[in-house]
Amino acid sequence: MTTLLTDHLRAMAAAFPDKVAYQVTDGGQMTFAEWEAESNRLARALVAKGVAKGDRVSIYLLAEEALRFMVAYSAVHKVGAVAVPTNTRLSDGELERLLGHAEVRVLLTDPELSPLAHRLAGTLTALEHVIVTPSVEDGVPPWKWAVPGSDDAGTFQVEVSGDDLADILYTSGTTGLPKGVAIRHRNVALIPGAPNPNYSGQCWLHASPLFTFAGIGFIYNPMQLGLFGVYQPKFDAGRWLEVVEELRPQFVFLVPSMAQLIVSHPRFDDVELSSIAICAIGSAPLAPATLRALQERMPEASVSNSYGMTEAGPAFCSMPKGESLKRIGSVGQPVPPLEVRIVDEEGRDLPSGEVGEAILRMPGREREYYRNAEATAGTWKDGWLYSGDLARLDEDGYLYIVGRKKDVIIRGGNNIYAVDVEAVLLEHPQVVEAAVVGIPHTVLGEDVAAVVVLVPGAATTAEELREHCAGELADYKVPRRIEMVTELPRNATGKVLKARLQDQLAATPPR
Ligand code: AMP
Repeated sequence: MTTLLTDHLRAMAAAFPDKVAYQVTDGGQMTFAEWEAESNRLARALVAKGVAKGDRVSIYLLAEEALRFMVAYSAVHKVGAVAVPTNTRLSDGELERLLGHAEVRVLLTDPELSPLAHRLAGTLTALEHVIVTPSVEDGVPPWKWAVPGSDDAGTFQVEVSGDDLADILYTSGTTGLPKGVAIRHRNVALIPGAPNPNYSGQCWLHASPLFTFAGIGFIYNPMQLGLFGVYQPKFDAGRWLEVVEELRPQFVFLVPSMAQLIVSHPRFDDVELSSIAICAIGSAPLAPATLRALQERMPEASVSNSYGMTEAGPAFCSMPKGESLKRIGSVGQPVPPLEVRIVDEEGRDLPSGEVGEAILRMPGREREYYRNAEATAGTWKDGWLYSGDLARLDEDGYLYIVGRKKDVIIRGGNNIYAVDVEAVLLEHPQVVEAAVVGIPHTVLGEDVAAVVVLVPGAATTAEELREHCAGELADYKVPRRIEMVTELPRNATGKVLKARLQDQLAATPPR
């Protein structure tokens, strides 16, 4: 029998009803009993609205509504319905296409986002109900939904099996058919539920949007490790450091752009970070300089850049403590049952050290795209997930991600991996962020361009940065064009939108 995420919540509510389950920085908290009771109430309210097993329910909420997001996520699973965590940064058209593709029947939202949701309800035939949270000004607890027809807070769970759909996580929606990763109850838990729940009173600090793969996992992962969750709705490095001082988290998760802002913050060297035992970073390449800075400030902690993707689900690589600095650039070793192979264009295995596409297998835990057979067939072949990431395995089986397959820059026949050049730029003391992309070149095919964000008040020039790169990199890898900007375009997860940077570079001639 599959243990459901909601089973773990029930067990926590029975064992530790009055303990804090979640806290939102500057925005309230919720105990396990409150979470359990409120999700039972909301589940009944959804049933009263006609929601049945298998119906899709969108959770479309601002980050500040994190506690209600968590209650909603549990309620949807209690009804046996399918959660569609929805990106709040989508354009109107993108949102419409996504909700239409998922045939969402009910949408849970907040007062600020509700006008758009109501408008879409007029055009999307499947969308029958838009349920809006009470507004904060009404003095309602930040976890409460207050939907009519939901007075009974007793245990509620529609029977579901491991094969039933739990979530659909959309990874793109800008072109073609939207790609939503279909996740079933048997593979929704990233960390398996513990038969004997525990509570250490320590916490896990997180700041990624809840509708992303990293964010949705954060809803149940802390409790599965006996921790409570602390959520920072809008990341700010200074406030993050303060929260670490105040709440002394044992576990923190960051995306590389947050990590970079933290290490370059003026208070980074003074703040007490000793509570942190695990500093997990993930979702994009991490500059070695940033990893080193974090590890040096937290010598006892396990600091590592972990590799994951929505399509792969619970595919873990692990970096043994103390190995991080010896294996700079590695995301660790695949933890069985995950298998990773590196293959060439024809799908043949490559020897260790050689770069090819990483393909992944987790028998019995495969995911697929929702209502997109073509994309599914192109991504999963014979049980192997073709990640689209270029990577290599070293002789000890450590995995190194070198970039997206489509992001390799081929300059006059030489392959250049953006991550290598970005790492060198980030070694420069005045560079806070760097993104390297290919730009068209009439003779070479492609040339290398870099877009950087400098520390405030920095006076370095493109020429100086090029000299810095020339000291560390082969000549053909040195960016010919370097632009300085105040901010890099990023998606909600924090990944740099490289295609947008390429468009911007094409639209602005070099100065
Ligand atoms: P998503 O499913 O949106 O989380 O994106 C997954 C993709 O993010 C992967 O296919 C990689 O391209 C990238 N990614 C995730 N983790 C890492 C990492 N630790 N290092 C480099 N790239 C990463």
